Amino acid sequence: MPGSNDKLSVLGYGCMRLPTTVGGAASSLINKEKALDQIRYAIDNGVNYLDTAYPYHLGASESFLGEYVLKDGYREKVKIATKLPCMTIFKKEQIEEIFNKQLSKLQVEYIDYYMLHSMNGPSWERMLSLGIIDFMDNIRKEGRVKNMGFSFHGKKEDFIKICDGYNFDFAQVQYNIVDIHFQAGIEGIEYAHNKGMGIIVMEPLRGGSLVTKMPKSVEKIYKHAEIKRTPADWALRFVLNNPAVTLVLSGMNNMEHIKENIQVCSDSLPNGMSSAEVEILTSVKNEFDSLLQVNCTGCSYCLPCPAGIDIPAAFKNLNNFHMFSKANATAYHALYLGIQSKDGKAHWTSSCVNCGKCEAKCPQFIPVREKFKQVQKELETPLTKGMAAVGRLFIGNKN
Ligand code: SF4
Ligand code: SF4
Repeated sequence: MPGSNDKLSVLGYGCMRLPTTVGGAASSLINKEKALDQIRYAIDNGVNYLDTAYPYHLGASESFLGEYVLKDGYREKVKIATKLPCMTIFKKEQIEEIFNKQLSKLQVEYIDYYMLHSMNGPSWERMLSLGIIDFMDNIRKEGRVKNMGFSFHGKKEDFIKICDGYNFDFAQVQYNIVDIHFQAGIEGIEYAHNKGMGIIVMEPLRGGSLVTKMPKSVEKIYKHAEIKRTPADWALRFVLNNPAVTLVLSGMNNMEHIKENIQVCSDSLPNGMSSAEVEILTSVKNEFDSLLQVNCTGCSYCLPCPAGIDIPAAFKNLNNFHMFSKANATAYHALYLGIQSKDGKAHWTSSCVNCGKCEAKCPQFIPVREKFKQVQKELETPLTKGMAAVGRLFIGNKN
């Protein structure tokens, strides 16, 4: 890690998708025996960075690490990373309270890598108003935190503002072969790196979609490439080829994948790809780009929309519909536009009042209203609307 003596493994273990007895990542019922075996195997084979967060597995991830994984001398073998759940913090006193709770759940005296969780422009401003700078100064001075950072899901310019707003040691960002310019993007990564910050990359496999839900045309490129590798192997190598990247996180819950990831990361070097490898990944990237329906970066400059439409979500769903799984994209469209709005009502793209404000603000010059026609045709079908209506009834919202 730049600026510290820590020698971190290039693969970090993400503890947000541990094996469970029921319910996946949304469950607190961690399959302790299996998860312990898997994490300890990774540690025994060189992984020395464990990433968790207060809400992972509904709060059970931190406790599981403290009660099981970090026992028997394993605390000394790893660096622990966790995050302050800023999205739920609205009063100053909550900050210290939650931080102490995290130390006690993890059963540690200090946290090696501590982050403000899921920062964006507004949440950073809110945390500033709650005195977060003094808090970060104090926990560092007292040795209760060794390295201070933030994880990010917001606009590029806000990423830069946050990097400049405090003497952070590192940042955690989303970066993969599809999301090169998304959120902080490669530009934000360069910026933070040039400031001497470490870069932790999350979602290198885009939640698994770069492995399990790939378009046929991309599968074909990999299949016919002279260099044979699995999609996961290619995706991890792509991230680690960037010399600004300190480590890549993978949320692992399958022993075969753990072994594969350890193997790939052990022989991936920054700028280590041959020109033949770069050529294959360029073809893959070009193929994904050709499937892209709308060049929306998710920056949200177009918001708020007077009709309450989540424009970036609509375009993300449209792209995912063509690049990955149609069923998933439809379900997410029902969720984001049909169920989860602030006022609890559906705001389909068909509710657009044609004001044009979004188009005037879009840095990508996207003809939003024109593109909405495609969203309506492909995603806002009677089936999607029916799913959303059922979802709203299920959560007790009859709007
Ligand atoms: S044109 Fe439609 S989508 Fe754009 S801001 Fe106006 S109402 Fe919202
Ligand atoms: S439509 Fe334009 S302004 Fe809105 S999120 Fe996409 S790129 Fe940004």
